[in-house]
Amino acid sequence: MKGEWLERMYRWFSPHNGSCPVCGRDRRDGAPPLPVPIRHAAARQALSSLCGDCVRAIPWIDIAACSICGRPERCGDCLRRSVRHFQCCRAAVRYDAAMRDWLALYKYRGLERLEPVLAAMLALPAERLLSRVSAFAVAAVPLADERLRERGFNQAERMALRIARWYRIPYLPLLRRVRHTDKQSFKGRGDRLENMRGSFAAAGPVALPDDGKERNIILVDDIYTTGSTINECAYVIRKAHPSCKIYGLLWARS
Ligand SMILES: [Zn+2]
Ligand SMILES: [Zn+2]
Repeated sequence: MKGEWLERMYRWFSPHNGSCPVCGRDRRDGAPPLPVPIRHAAARQALSSLCGDCVRAIPWIDIAACSICGRPERCGDCLRRSVRHFQCCRAAVRYDAAMRDWLALYKYRGLERLEPVLAAMLALPAERLLSRVSAFAVAAVPLADERLRERGFNQAERMALRIARWYRIPYLPLLRRVRHTDKQSFKGRGDRLENMRGSFAAAGPVALPDDGKERNIILVDDIYTTGSTINECAYVIRKAHPSCKIYGLLWARS
């Protein structure tokens, strides 16, 4: 009840009250029903700002067929991976053409009003993960400095901060990017794995108590392609903090 009331208040005061934040069309059909269960009121509010067409365009991953990477199909990548440093990954949506457009609007065209919507989508796998894992902290995959300068923000960090705030989990900047990885230079999967090596380092002096207690870290990124980024980040975090277990939380699974 409280959630519904908040949703109504939000719509009333929202600057995009009448138009969908993604397509900009007039949202006459009211808040469309969400086809997936998301409990957090703020996430529901953000998604209720979308028009019916945009809500229906979201390719939710409702069932993870691969228990390791969370892909909705069985997957060879996870079987082929020889060393895995993360426990598992879960993604909100499939990375289809529509989701590519949405992310581009936010990332490259700086459409900031999409930020709460994208973070709200991430709430689906976050809530599922948090129902079985108690999280010690949320962290994000960092951007290279030059990218950060160009774009002005790190989309993974922005989403991670919102998830941390919504679910009252501390946010820890555990990683930094030490070199820029050129996407164009990837030829195949092997190249990509090779290329990520040495791209990240543990950030600054983050002091985690050295009491041998296991600590679950939720590591956020926007896209999961081969898993090499999350795997490398998990490796770096665990090298610095061996008591940590890493759970990847991805906005989309390509
Ligand atoms: Zn729309
Ligand atoms: Zn998999």
